[in-house]
Amino acid sequence: MSDCLFCRIIRRDIPASIVYEDDRLLAFNDINPQAPTHVLIIPKQHIESLNALAPGEDAIVGEMVRRAAAIANTRGIAESGYRTVFNTNRDAGQTVFHVHLHLLGGRSLTWPPG
Ligand code: 5GP
Ligand code: ZN
Repeated sequence: MSDCLFCRIIRRDIPASIVYEDDRLLAFNDINPQAPTHVLIIPKQHIESLNALAPGEDAIVGEMVRRAAAIANTRGIAESGYRTVFNTNRDAGQTVFHVHLHLLGGRSLTWPPG
């Protein structure tokens, strides 16, 4: 989807601090970080939210989750702990409608979330 913010980051129309890229995924630092590590992991395929996932997309979700764990490991927060979040639609505060996995860590995170 050409006017999607994250599709524009994938195309390099908009700059981002990219931390990982392969054929199917991109990961970059959140522009408004909520923790010392706040990385967004996205599929290169435009998918609006978890609600739009098709059975054939199970693999990409697994890749996103495993990539979050790998980035946590490289940031040295795998043992101390981290949080991974998919926000979906209004009540969760989703603002960008291209599915993304938040990786948050590097500080003690409270629960329950606000
Ligand atoms: P959501 O609220 O949809 O789960 O998360 C969207 C995230 O995208 C937010 O944490 C927000 O800070 C981040 N974000 C919004 N615009 C940009 C941008 O242009 N660049 C980067 N790197 N992150 C962005
Ligand atoms: Zn998109």
